[in-house]
Formats: sequence, C-alpha cells, structure tokens
Amino acid sequence: MAPDALRRAAASLSGARPLSYWLDDPAKPEALPALTGDAVCDLLVVGGGYSGLWTALLAKERDPGREVVLIEAREAGWAASGRNGGFCAASLTHGTANGLERWPGEIAKLEELGARNLDGIEEAVARHGIDCDFERTGEIVAATRPHELADLRAWHRRTEELGLGTPEFLDREQVRAEVDSPAFLGGLFDRRGVAMLHPAKL
Ligand SMILES: Cc1cc2nc3c(=O)[nH]c(=O)nc-3n(C[C@H](O)[C@H](O)[C@H](O)COP(=O)(O)OP(=O)(O)OC[C@H]3O[C@@H](n4cnc5c(N)ncnc54)[C@H](O)[C@@H]3O)c2cc1C
Repeated sequence: MAPDALRRAAASLSGARPLSYWLDDPAKPEALPALTGDAVCDLLVVGGGYSGLWTALLAKERDPGREVVLIEAREAGWAASGRNGGFCAASLTHGTANGLERWPGEIAKLEELGARNLDGIEEAVARHGIDCDFERTGEIVAATRPHELADLRAWHRRTEELGLGTPEFLDREQVRAEVDSPAFLGGLFDRRGVAMLHPAKL
C-alpha cells in the first residue's frame, strides 16, 4: 500500500476501539455472579461458548432432572462465540463447493444433515424463547465482475445437476431488489441455508 494510503487508513482507524461489536452492546445480558463456594452436579460443562452452552441445553432437555453446572473462566461468550460474524449457516463443510471437493460421495448427506441442524437450532431458539435476534435471512453471493457472474451461473447449473438444494440465480434487477448496490451484476440467493443472530444475546 502506498504511504499516503497507509496514513489515511491509520487515520481512519485512530478512533477505533478493539472490542467485540456484540459484547459492546447494552442489550447483552449481564454476567452471573462468580461461583465462589462448592457445587455438586451430575454433569459439569467447562466453557461458556456455543459448544458448552448448547451441550448444557441439550443435556437438560434430554434429562430435566439432571443437575447441570456450566463454568466459565471469564464471562459466557467472552471468546470466539462472542466475537464472530453472527452467521448461523447450515453448511457443515464451510460451503457446498468446499464440501463437494473434499467429500463428493457424501456431500448430499452432509447438506441434508446441515439443513436439519439449522432447523434444529431455530426450533430450540423458539422452544426456549431465546431472545437472540435469530432471523432466517438467507445468504446472497453477489458478483461484481463479469467473470464472477459466469462462475455463479456455472455453479448454479452444477448444483441443479447434482440436486444440491439449489440456490436461486438472481439477475441484476433481482439482486438489486434485495440489496440495491450498483456494483452487483447478479447473485445466488440461498434463502434457507443461513440465519443471522446476535451471538452475545444467544
Ligand atoms: C472472527 C471470527 C469470526 C467467526 N465467524 C463465524 C460466523 O459468522 N459463523 C459461525 O458459525 N462461526 C464463526 N466463527 C467460529 C465460531 O465463533 C466458533 O467456532 C465458536 O464460537 C466456537 O465455540 P466454542 O464454544 O467451541 O469456543 P469458545 O467460544 O472459544 O468458548 C470457549 C470458552 O471456554 C472457556 N474456557 C476455556 N478453558 C476453560 C477452563 N479451563 N475453565 C473454564 N472456562 C474455560 C473460555 O473462556 C471460552 O469462553 C468465527 C470465529 C471468529 C474468531
């Protein structure tokens, strides 16, 4: 980067605070008081991130009489779970294309399991009335250059041939009806495969 551009970039970041966007939100629930005494339980879960919190939830659902204690060294959601993009995606393979390349024989099953998993998360959020701004927004991959548009068309055809939960192809007008950017030439819209949520509230 040219020195002038670097200076401008540094100046634009000079007022930035190195905080998680989600954890800095007043809507974030307050942390519970620290555990100071002894505690006895049937199941101890260590770590209050997504993995630990969901484990504790499922353990209680399966056996409500089970005493479950979750301990967290700092504050629930303090680590990666409170600092991510808030995308709750169905894909278990970080995208269908990646999954197809690595597990071509199993991709249909992986896609199906991922879709069921996201439905299960949505159902659990509704069942427990978890106020985490869960919204099944879907996801658009937008093309801003002609060769990207051609790639999206080719990928769309391929997913159709393989029967892989085909995303919708959007032309320029259709993509701009969703997100009105003059840079967008078209896109692929996966309406069911992604939800957005507020990680700190979750
Ligand atoms: C920048 C970034 C963006 C991301 N974007 C996305 C996204 O958009 N969508 C998505 O699905 N995933 C995303 N991820 C990944 C996702 O956030 C992580 O996979 C997920 O949060 C991991 O959850 P976890 O519970 O396993 O770990 P963590 O969230 O790291 O939680 C582990 C917890 O355990 C606690 N702990 C550790 N050791 C102990 C101990 N001995 N005693 C007590 N407590 C302990 C820690 O303090 C921590 O709170 C992103 C990750 C990052 C970093």
